[in-house]
Amino acid sequence: MSADVIVVGGGLAGSTLSAVLARQGRSVLMIERETKFKDRVRGESMLPWGVAAARRLNVFDDLVVAGAHRVPFFNTYAMGTMTEHRPLPETTPTSDGCLHMYHPDLQETLVATAVKAGAQCIGINNRDLRTFTVDRELAIRLRPSIPADRIVVAESGIRNGADVARLRDAGVDAILVGETLMRAHDPAAVLRGLLAG
Ligand SMILES: Cc1cc2nc3c(=O)[nH]c(=O)nc-3n(C[C@H](O)[C@H](O)[C@H](O)COP(=O)(O)OP(=O)(O)OC[C@H]3O[C@@H](n4cnc5c(N)ncnc54)[C@H](O)[C@@H]3O)c2cc1C
Repeated sequence: MSADVIVVGGGLAGSTLSAVLARQGRSVLMIERETKFKDRVRGESMLPWGVAAARRLNVFDDLVVAGAHRVPFFNTYAMGTMTEHRPLPETTPTSDGCLHMYHPDLQETLVATAVKAGAQCIGINNRDLRTFTVDRELAIRLRPSIPADRIVVAESGIRNGADVARLRDAGVDAILVGETLMRAHDPAAVLRGLLAG
């Protein structure tokens, strides 16, 4: 396959960039290492200028539909007493308030937006890059959650033709094999075995 742009990382920036480029007609390959976004320590507040950017980039509606909370004011408290109440739409240049959303939901929504826009969001790494453990079933389990018209690449842990056949039967389109070939005494023979699968 070929792509105009490869975006590494499907975080807020990577997903939004992929969506914008895909909508402009570019073919985009977005690669994200996480199979499930974790609740890392992150604030959940998008301030008005971020909300204005989300509107400009045409991702705002998807965030609201996915459950982002619109917050129309910003209160400041000192020692438990409110010292300022700021109505945001009336006091910001773009008349926006804040948008609050659980961070993993925000990431998943933006990845879905990128996929909807046409980004080819594909690589499924069977190897957890933190623990280096391999789960050979991962690509097979996740394949149904990716639209059928996307090319899905299963990465890591592929040993032989039988593994390749199982992946193909599960709807995986391509494989990425590194370690098996690197460790092989006869890489050509191993490659022939993989291709026979
Ligand atoms: C404590 C804390 C509180 C914050 N509070 C707020 C807040 O209230 N409001 C706000 O607007 N911002 C807040 N931020 C900032 C905000 O979280 C970041 O600006 C934003 O997440 C950056 O988005 P990003 O897409 O650039 O990076 P990230 O969100 O870090 O995404 C990067 C992505 O790339 C993937 N990746 C990395 N390496 C690879 C690789 N080699 N291959 C494939 N994928 C890879 C990662 O898995 C990840 O999904 C906060 C940040 C912190 C740390």
